[in-house]
Amino acid sequence: MAGSPRVGVLALQGDVREHVRVLEHLGAVAVPVRRPEELASVSGLVLPGGESTVIDKLARSFGLHEAIRQAIAAGLPTYGTCAGLILLADRIVDAAAGQQSFGGLDVTVRRNAFGSQLDSFETELAISGWKAPPVRAVFIRAPIVVEAGEAVQILATIEDGRIVAVRQGSVLGTSFHPEVTGDVRFHRLLLDLIEERAAA
Ligand code: GLN
Repeated sequence: MAGSPRVGVLALQGDVREHVRVLEHLGAVAVPVRRPEELASVSGLVLPGGESTVIDKLARSFGLHEAIRQAIAAGLPTYGTCAGLILLADRIVDAAAGQQSFGGLDVTVRRNAFGSQLDSFETELAISGWKAPPVRAVFIRAPIVVEAGEAVQILATIEDGRIVAVRQGSVLGTSFHPEVTGDVRFHRLLLDLIEERAAA
C-alpha cells in the first residue's frame, strides 16, 4: 500500500480506543473524528460500538451527521460494529424516539435484539468466504439484521440463522465486536476496501 491510510474513528462515545488500537496495529493512521474537518481528512471510517442513540444525538449536535451521511453515500469505505451497525442501517426497529441513522446499508436492524435475558454472549462464527479460524464474536446488547436488500451480502449468521454480519459495496457492519477480541480481519478488509477505492 502506498503510504499509511488515514482511517477515522468516530470518537463521540463508545469503544473508540479499541478500534484505534486495531487500526494502528495494522499500520493505518487512526484519526479520532469529532469535527467535519477531521472527517474530510480520512479515506475510511469506523463507527464504534457504544450507544447508538447517544452517538446519533452527538453527531447531530457536533454538525457531523450530514457530512457522515453524505460521505458514506459517496462511497467512503466504512465499518460499523454493534451501535455502529445500527448507525449504518437504513431502517431501525425499536429505535428511540427521533433516533436517526447515517444509512449506507440497505438493511433493517433490530436494536437490543437478544433481550435482557441474553444481554451479552460470546460465540465462534464462520464468515462467508473466509478461511479458518472462525471469528470469536462478542455480542453486547447487540442488534441483528432482520431484513436485507438484494445488494447486501450476508457475511455471517448465528446458529438460528439470524444475520449478524453484512457487507454492501464498501460498507461493512457486524453485530459483534472483533475489536474487543483482537480479531483484525474485518479492519483489514476495511483497509483493503480503502486501497481498492484509491486505485479505482
Ligand atoms: N444496544 C446498543 C445500541 O442500541 C448497542 C450496544 C453496543 O454497541 N455494544 O446502540
